[in-house]
Amino acid sequence: MSAPVSWDAVSHDGAARTGTLHTPHGSVATPAFMPVGTRGTVRLVGAEDLESLGVQMVLANTYHLMLRPGAETVAELGELHGMMGWAGPILTDSGGFQVFSLSPKVDEDGVAFRSSYDGSQVHLTPEDAVRVQETLGADVAMALDVLVGLPAPTEVVRRAMERTLRWAERALAAKQRGDQALFGIVQGGTDPELRTISARETAALGFPGFGIGGLAVGETPAERNLAIEAVAAQLPAAAPRYVMGLGDTEGLLDAIARGCDLFDCVIPTRLARHGKALHPAGDFSIKRAEWATSTEPIDPDCPCPACGRYTRGYLRHLFATHELLGLRLLSLHNLVYTMHLMADARTAIAAGDFAEFHLRTVARRRLTPTQP
Ligand SMILES: [Zn+2]
Repeated sequence: MSAPVSWDAVSHDGAARTGTLHTPHGSVATPAFMPVGTRGTVRLVGAEDLESLGVQMVLANTYHLMLRPGAETVAELGELHGMMGWAGPILTDSGGFQVFSLSPKVDEDGVAFRSSYDGSQVHLTPEDAVRVQETLGADVAMALDVLVGLPAPTEVVRRAMERTLRWAERALAAKQRGDQALFGIVQGGTDPELRTISARETAALGFPGFGIGGLAVGETPAERNLAIEAVAAQLPAAAPRYVMGLGDTEGLLDAIARGCDLFDCVIPTRLARHGKALHPAGDFSIKRAEWATSTEPIDPDCPCPACGRYTRGYLRHLFATHELLGLRLLSLHNLVYTMHLMADARTAIAAGDFAEFHLRTVARRRLTPTQP
């Protein structure tokens, strides 16, 4: 049987590349951003919205779904696609990122932690993470990895990276489902040497795609870029590279420039719920007093439902009065902003113009200082 998920390059511009990710639920033009549907919903945004906003693929969190409503219940509801009413591609994370934020007990077998829902003890092994994700039924599942908080001593990062490799082998051995791809995850902190080893060894295991984990956790952009370069140099050219948890404009463009294809992050929707509008001339808070009587949209060039109909003055009023519509409209806007950033990046790469596009986009955002 052919691989359930594959990636073809379409065009190259320096290290940046466009391509097509093929999945059992359709194709994704890359570079692509996946909004995060933490509990099987991109907060305040329905599947019909995602379709109309041009979203190609979404991410759902295994940690949350295995605890509520439970993987078996998701399966009974038609797996993730059926439950969410979303016919397009879905990726599930392994649950590791959330689990490691709960200070779990980690040993060679797996991780033990207390559920943040009811305090019950939960144990998760690399094999469990595969089984749960196969039950959830996404197109792409991720191997369980070991995360360390940065900064950390090199020896600690190395041990976590090496255990991640052993867990990756166990995950591959546990895999049963033929219509779901399993991606390995490269670790190694911000140490280019550890990143190189991790990428080379993870690639040698033969995964059809690769997550680059443990970044976007507080390291500097320069550290992150070096780590990504070290990883990209070792991964097979014909496999998709997914930087996990990266979603700010500058970070996305830096990673695309270094040959990365897939991204997910809560940033666009989380910032929206805090009143922050993403904008090509610099992000800003919609709550600022100066918008009180503004009849301008957030961005006159933005095709989103918020900018097509509503003023900054109205949106500010909705936030000031805690009306849920404000949170929703800004979420839609920030998602469309990010979708368009990706589409513009793809166009620029195809035109051989990415470096110039990258500089121009970042320079324009610096015209207006980012304010709280
Ligand atoms: Zn908009």
